[in-house]
Order: sequence, then C-alpha cells, then structure tokens
Amino acid sequence: MLTVDGSFGEGGGQILRSSLALALVAGAELRITNIRARRQKPGLMRQHLAAVRAAAAVGRAEIKGAEIGSKELHFKPTTVEPGDYAFNVGSAGSATLVFQTILPAFLRASKPCRITLEGGTHNPMAPPFDFLDRAFLPLIRRMGAGVNARLETRGFYPAGGGRFFATIEPTKTLHRIDLLERGEILGRRVVATVSNLTPQIALRELEAAQRVLGWGRECFRPDIQKGGPGPGNVLTIDVESEHVTEVFSAFGERGVRAETVAERAASEAKAYIEAGVPVGEHLADQLLLPMALAGGGSFKTFALSSHTTTHIELLRKLLGAKIRVEKAEEDAFVVEVGG
Ligand code: AMP
Repeated sequence: MLTVDGSFGEGGGQILRSSLALALVAGAELRITNIRARRQKPGLMRQHLAAVRAAAAVGRAEIKGAEIGSKELHFKPTTVEPGDYAFNVGSAGSATLVFQTILPAFLRASKPCRITLEGGTHNPMAPPFDFLDRAFLPLIRRMGAGVNARLETRGFYPAGGGRFFATIEPTKTLHRIDLLERGEILGRRVVATVSNLTPQIALRELEAAQRVLGWGRECFRPDIQKGGPGPGNVLTIDVESEHVTEVFSAFGERGVRAETVAERAASEAKAYIEAGVPVGEHLADQLLLPMALAGGGSFKTFALSSHTTTHIELLRKLLGAKIRVEKAEEDAFVVEVGG
C-alpha cells in the first residue's frame, strides 16, 4: 500500500496525479490524505476528479472518496488495460494534466493506446498543449516510447471545450536520457494566439515580446482564430536547441495588459537563455517521473522550483528512487535520477 500525505511541499494537484500514476505503474493500492491542502480551495476539484476517474478507468480500479472537495482518496487498481479511451474534464480544467496522469502507465503497456481528451488545453498553471507537444513529448519519444499528440480544438480557461488526441506505442524498456547541455540555439519562435478576440491583442503582445527578446521580426507571428469555444489568448515562445526544445507561455487575463502578459513569457524565455541550462522550470518537475521509470536520467536546470523539490521527495518515498541534486554553477543544478 502506498500512503501519501498530500500536504507536504507544494501541497498541490501534482502530488495527487503523480501518486495515481505511480500506483497504476506499480499496480499498488494508494491512500492519499490532505489532498491539495496548500491550495486556496483544497480537496479534489473537477480537473483532479477527472484525473482520478481516468486513472480508475485505465487501472480498472476501485475508488473511495472520489467526490468534489474530497480530501482523502483510496485507489485500488487491478491492472493496466491498454486500448482506446476518451476522457472529458467537463470544465476548463486541464486535459493535459489528465493525460500526464495516465501516460506513464501506457508507456510500457502490452498494446498501443489511443486517447481522446476534452477540456482545457490552454490553462494557466498547467502545461499548455504546445508545451506538451513540442517540449515534453519529444523527450518521452527519445526514451523509446512512440507518443504523439494532435490538437483539434483549443480550449481556453474559463470556457474549456478543447480537444486533443494522443497515440501511444509502448516500449519494453524506457531508456535513460541525459540533458546536460543545451547546444546551439537553432530556432526561435514567438506566436501570439487570440481566439474570438481582437487581433490587436496579439500584435501588442508580439511588439512587447520583441522589445524584451530583441529577436528578428521573422521570429514573431500572430495567430488569429475565430469560431472556437470561448475567448482566449496565449503567447508561446519556443526556444529550439540542439538537444532540447523549451516552450514558455503566458495567458491573457481580464484586467491584465497585453504587454504584461507578453513580458511574463518573454522574461522567462530570456532568463532561460541567459542561464545556459537545457531544462527550464516546468520540464524539470515533469521529467522526473519518466526518468525514474526509465531507471535513470539526468538534467541541468536552474534553481529548483517547489514543484520539483516536492516531486523529488514523492519519487523517493513511493519508488525509492535515488535522486541527487548537485550545484553545478552559480544558479545551475544537476539533477541525477537513479544510477
Ligand atoms: P499543480 O500546481 O500541483 O497542480 O501542478 C501543476 C503542473 O503544471 C506542474 O507540473 C507545473 O510544472 C505545470 N505547469 C504550470 N505552468 C506551466 C507552464 N506554463 N508550462 C508548462 N507546464 C506548466
């Protein structure tokens, strides 16, 4: 039995999702208490419940405590059943996070899987589809599993209504990967997407991002969408290097100037480039679990976020993973998983 107190460290949804992922992979019963204790609205929200239900479907699991607001959950999987699945968060809750909950179980499944996910694809505080598609999944493919995703409809917060598809060709063995060097920067791209909003927002964001980054005009592109569900705006910044691609993003919000939105993402991208590390803040916390499953891996990143330190603690506790963190340079750290 895996037991987790969900209030440690970051005390958020990641502890729940990763615990579910590991329970599925290990075929082990899980009891988790104090779910999301450090969040303003603790307990299971719709998006977390969707992750629990998705994990339960994949693992043919018995569940207790799967209700909105629940702070305690028992999860008892019986198997991992590959096949075709469709999951709907039923709100603008992040569908990419639901996908990341069940993905680890499918990486070494006995058969390929196809999954349709509906809900939010572009949410603040969650990986936007672009990050999943261009930063995270290419690294999972490098570990040996054939995972591909295709976006059909963007679902922005608060309207939701997005949809994407994923296919997973499992592998018998996941390989370790080492991301210690970024290599040359080969491509830079900034896209300002507006859906059912004035194109002016996108143009102002591109101007503001250009002022921070100083890149050539050819790197900046507006993407004007009409007719999708709800209004929405996201600025994504891709930094494509020899060994890794990073995707930074910021979302338009009511009452926040377009320039401020753009500056948020652009400052993150600028800090990443200046730090010279291959792995940014979000990839750092999301790579740990696949690396632990692969039995090893390493990466260089900047100061660890509390999501990353929490994830390290969780993987040590539940998997007995050996994870070492060493300071490499001023503000650069090497995280070594396994080995
Ligand atoms: P939690 O706050 O515990 O529900 O976890 C949120 C997850 O979303 C973490 O794995 C974060 O790294 C990830 N995340 C948040 N914002 C972004 C972003 N802009 N790009 C990629 N991943 C993100």
